[in-house]
Amino acid sequence: MTVRGQLFILSAPSGTGKTTILKKVMANVTNLYFSISHTTRAPRNGEKNGVDYHFVTVVEFQEMCEKDLFLEWAEVHGNFYGTSRPAVLKQLACGQDVILDIDVQGAAIIIADATLPGVSVFVAPPSLSELEKRLCSRGTDTKETIELRLDNAVKEMDAAEKYDYLVINDNLEEAVGTLQSVIIAERSRGHRLPSGEPIQLRANK
Ligand code: ADP
Ligand code: 5GP
Repeated sequence: MTVRGQLFILSAPSGTGKTTILKKVMANVTNLYFSISHTTRAPRNGEKNGVDYHFVTVVEFQEMCEKDLFLEWAEVHGNFYGTSRPAVLKQLACGQDVILDIDVQGAAIIIADATLPGVSVFVAPPSLSELEKRLCSRGTDTKETIELRLDNAVKEMDAAEKYDYLVINDNLEEAVGTLQSVIIAERSRGHRLPSGEPIQLRANK
């Protein structure tokens, strides 16, 4: 199958602000499809099924694995998460750019897949103490979950050098601007306008 859209892979330690950045980028950038993952994690307050995630049981997740319906999947902080193969391939085939919000294990699988050329972006917090503050201020996780996520953050940061781009989320607006610049630069490299449309060169009179 010909892959026509551009795939963007975004990873960050939990609590860095990746979801916050992505929501702003999705509101500003056209022709960008956010891949809604499947997860066995329980929904947080305010999260909607089919919008933030497809929330499924462990049995449902395992059935999808057996049917090879995931491009990649991983166990993260004690829950399963996976990227829908048919949904992503359909969008790419239509020429739509797709952005994946996935952990470093899933990103390594996609980056190693030569049939799916993608541009990878790692978002890092300005410091571990700031990351802890953000996890606490989000108010969605227990003390134990926050400790687990902080432990994992140290390991995840080691993977940052394997990504094409590194964005530090210190000032939110700057981080949003940098991610948008990466998307626009990659579109220009693929001879497309910042909006994602192909550039039609015409001889000027
Ligand atoms: P992630 O998706 O990476 O787990 P979230 O987007 O849920 O992280 O953000 C975690 C918390 O940090 C949220 O309360 C969010 O409002 C806050 N946050 C995000 N970016 C910044 C920033 N640049 N400065 C301060 N707080 C931030
Ligand atoms: P959260 O539970 O905070 O929403 O997400 C926890 C972690 O799981 C984050 O690092 C997020 O990027 C990652 N994640 C979300 N969806 C997927 C997915 O489909 N695959 C993988 N491998 N990780 C995912």
